[in-house]
Amino acid sequence: KANRKFHPEDSVIQVENAKIGGGEFAVIAGPCSVESEEQIIEVAKQVKAAGATMLRGGAFKPRTSPYDFQGLKDEGLKLLLEAKEATGLPIVTEIMNADHLPLFEDVDVIQVGARNMQNFELLKELGHTNKAILLKRGLANTIKELLMSAEYIMSGGNENIILCERGIRTFETYTRNTLDLSVIPVLHQLTHLPVVVDPSHATGHADLVAPMALAATAGGADGLMIEVHNDPAKALCDGAQSLTPDQFKAMMDKVRKIREVI
Ligand code: PEP
Ligand code: MN
Repeated sequence: KANRKFHPEDSVIQVENAKIGGGEFAVIAGPCSVESEEQIIEVAKQVKAAGATMLRGGAFKPRTSPYDFQGLKDEGLKLLLEAKEATGLPIVTEIMNADHLPLFEDVDVIQVGARNMQNFELLKELGHTNKAILLKRGLANTIKELLMSAEYIMSGGNENIILCERGIRTFETYTRNTLDLSVIPVLHQLTHLPVVVDPSHATGHADLVAPMALAATAGGADGLMIEVHNDPAKALCDGAQSLTPDQFKAMMDKVRKIREVI
């Protein structure tokens, strides 16, 4: 169902006023994790002013260490909905357990994180919803495996899928992951689904985020996912790769210029 051969035209996924795919560009921005009401509302307002079209924020966090901040959970989802009300931005947030689906009823885009890309039971459950799904490529998964995971969701009847490249594990350790930019044209050849690039998790360093966001934009990505925090040094998760709202605005000005010429 994801195959371009049987569906030549680009899929356009629409959530509220935001569209992605088929020439429509989406910018999903916000903190790694929802931390407080002030934090999420402030960041939401600032990223909206800079041109973001959707708000991200993790409430259920897949942390490597069980001793690290695990997210505000249902309280975090509530705060995201408040930020949506304050700004009108549709919200994107990660699900880790299909049993939590009832809590995600008002979420606009449900994210499947890299660590759950092959959680097939979760994918099947999401296939039975009509929610837009942002499916991130696994840390060590091939393009074909990513597409088969999309197929798991689509075969259940839900074809509202956005694919996301967020870097893969290689021998290189200077960057958090290695951004595989070639997936943009490859996925566009193989599938009609929109492709978003996340340079925040791909690089792990705030100063590398804008250059890679611009490269992804020039390379034909249908959208970007960017971590933005009002005080990166104090972030409870992924501060090192988070842009300040000012840095995000400067990046957006350049992204718009590149969009004009491609
Ligand atoms: C995230 O988006 O905060 C996240 C955990 O991303 P990934 O699954 O790509 O590591
Ligand atoms: Mn993160």
